[in-house]
Amino acid sequence: MASPAAGRSKSLLLEGDHWPVEVVNGDSDGPVVLVCEHAGRAIPAALGDLGLPPSAMDLHIAYDIGAASVARTVAGILDAPLVLQPYSRLVIDCNRPVDAEDAIAAVSDNVEVPGNRNLPAAARQCRIDEIFEPFHKAVSTLIEGHERRAFFAIHSFTRTLAGQERKWDVGFASRTDPKTPEALAEQLVRLRPELNIGMNEPYAIDDQSDWTIPTHGERFGLQHSLVEIRNDHLRDEQGCVRWAELLGKAIGALIEAGAVR
Ligand SMILES: [Zn+2]
Repeated sequence: MASPAAGRSKSLLLEGDHWPVEVVNGDSDGPVVLVCEHAGRAIPAALGDLGLPPSAMDLHIAYDIGAASVARTVAGILDAPLVLQPYSRLVIDCNRPVDAEDAIAAVSDNVEVPGNRNLPAAARQCRIDEIFEPFHKAVSTLIEGHERRAFFAIHSFTRTLAGQERKWDVGFASRTDPKTPEALAEQLVRLRPELNIGMNEPYAIDDQSDWTIPTHGERFGLQHSLVEIRNDHLRDEQGCVRWAELLGKAIGALIEAGAVR
C-alpha cells in the first residue's frame, strides 16, 4: 500500500503513520452501513502530542470512549460494512463541517489544545485533505453503487459536560427521518425497559455540528440515526459487548420487520 502522503508536496501523514481510514467488512453487500468518526486517538507523528499531556488522550475530548469496540461488534453481528477514523477528533473532527470553529478545536471541554492554536491555513488544509476527505470518500464509496438501506453513526457521550448532568443511557438523533430513531427506541425499550432513551438528545443533528449524517444518511436518502451511548456504560469490554449486542439486535429487528427498507 502506498503511503497516504504519496504524491503530495506538503504532507502531514508520513510513512509509519496510520492510514486515515479503517474499513471493516468492506466486501459486505448488507443493507446497513455503519460509521464511527470518533473511533481512534492516534496523532500523526509530525504533530507530536499536540502539546497535550498523555492523560488528555484518555478523555472523551480525544475520542468516543468505547464507540469503536461497540461499532466493530455491531458490524460483526450484522455483517455490515463499517468505516472507522483512527485519528483523534482533536486532530480533525470528522463529524464537523471543515469550516466549523471546533473542526480543529483549540479548546475542548475546557482543555486547551496548544497544537491547534493559531493553526496556519496550509496546516489546516493538510488535515482536511489527508484525514477528513479520505474518510468521507470511503463512506461514500460504500454507499454509492450498492443497495444500502440504512446508515448509523456510532458515538459515545460523556455523562457530565460543562457542569450539566446528562441522564440518558443512550440517544438517537435524526432531523429528516424521525421514524428510524423511534423504531430503534421501540426495539430497545422492548429489550431493556429500564433504559432512559433520549430522542434528539444529548445531541440533535444540525449543519454546524454534523457532517456525517447530512452528507451520507440524508443526501443518499437512507434511513438513518446518530447513535450516542453514555460512555460510563462502555468503560470495559463487557459493557461494550453488552451494548453492541443490544444495538445489533435492535437494528437487526428493524431490518427483519422491514422497518428498514
Ligand atoms: Zn462522537
